[in-house]
Amino acid sequence: MADRPSVIVIGAGIIGASIAYHLAKAGARVTILEAGEPGGVATRNSWAWINASWGNPETYFRLRIRSMAEWRRLEREIPNLRLAWLGGLLWDIPPDELEAYAKEHATWGYGVRRADRAEAARIEPQLRNPPDFALHVAEEGSVEPLAAAQALLAAAQAQGATVIANRPVRQLLPRNGRVVGVETGSGILEADEIVVAAGAGTAKLAASAGYALPLDTPPGLLIASRPHPKLLNGLVMSPGLHVRQTPEGRLLAGADFGGSDPGADATATSLDLFEVMRGMFKDGTALEYSHHTVGYRPMPGDGFPVVGRPPQIGGLYLAVMHSGITLAPAVGLFAAEEIVSGTRDDLLKRYGPERFVGSN
Ligand SMILES: Cc1cc2nc3c(=O)[nH]c(=O)nc-3n(C[C@H](O)[C@H](O)[C@H](O)COP(=O)(O)OP(=O)(O)OC[C@H]3O[C@@H](n4cnc5c(N)ncnc54)[C@H](O)[C@@H]3O)c2cc1C
Repeated sequence: MADRPSVIVIGAGIIGASIAYHLAKAGARVTILEAGEPGGVATRNSWAWINASWGNPETYFRLRIRSMAEWRRLEREIPNLRLAWLGGLLWDIPPDELEAYAKEHATWGYGVRRADRAEAARIEPQLRNPPDFALHVAEEGSVEPLAAAQALLAAAQAQGATVIANRPVRQLLPRNGRVVGVETGSGILEADEIVVAAGAGTAKLAASAGYALPLDTPPGLLIASRPHPKLLNGLVMSPGLHVRQTPEGRLLAGADFGGSDPGADATATSLDLFEVMRGMFKDGTALEYSHHTVGYRPMPGDGFPVVGRPPQIGGLYLAVMHSGITLAPAVGLFAAEEIVSGTRDDLLKRYGPERFVGSN
């Protein structure tokens, strides 16, 4: 590969944007091809909680906590990411599981603090019915996901990358066991390396090079209120409703952070959920409904990220995952290191595409 490899990144969501930024910074010549407008599909419709929270094996926790640290590095490198480290209050699982989670994650070094009813009410004074037992993690945060993707793309462009919008890639071009380029509606483009960070579109593109990626793309519905004076100090993960307040003052919520199932009638589902949200706050009836969104969550077959080179296909790198908002900084950094210098970070060890070969 040349000293300054040429790389095509397919997809300008948070993952493609982060990979492109880190590649350009590492000296690669980067072209980003985006089917629609830059900013992604899942990304712009995400709840965008940055966390290393419960339910994960330790290897996955380690990747997430590293990515949280990388967000803080990016915050120093790039203006206008719109991060907010406001902390999260969580009680969406039964108390015994909450306690087990607290113990385990505290052992791993996560800043989990137990909160009784009085403490929960102190953290979030506008809750109508504070929980008797919750956990608070001050180091968690959120980001305005579209703004962050756009800021990463702008930073990539400042390092020499080119962003081409409204340019869907129809297929990858394999030749003698190596992907050498892509076919778009406006012709063929070649490069030393092709990165597919196309979210829900990744499986189709990978298949065109002979790699079968098991990928679910469940819908996730979020509701948003009109801008409202401050009701929340941080993120709230309660049973049946996860809610945060955006910098514009909108309350943004789903049945959980991944969004609700929209069901047969997404508007009806949204209005029902909005009533649940109103009931959550002391002065909740003053909240006004604004809109709902539905995003499609890229979910690899076993629920964990797929990042790396499929075996026996040269020139191809895949990066697709849920929790991509949390993971984008670390994945972007590690993918760029692997592509430019051949070094694969140990934190990615469990997450290579080879684990699905022969499984479907
Ligand atoms: C409702 C909801 C809530 C979520 N909550 C959280 C959360 O709280 N925390 C968290 O960490 N994660 C969360 N996620 C997951 C997170 O948003 C995703 O993992 C992340 O946004 C994926 O980013 P991406 O860049 O891979 O995909 P996308 O944002 O979908 O971007 C992929 C891009 O590729 C483009 N593309 C596709 N096919 C092609 C093609 N053939 N040619 C060119 N371009 C193509 C698409 O147009 C798109 O712009 C949530 C997701 C949803 C939907």
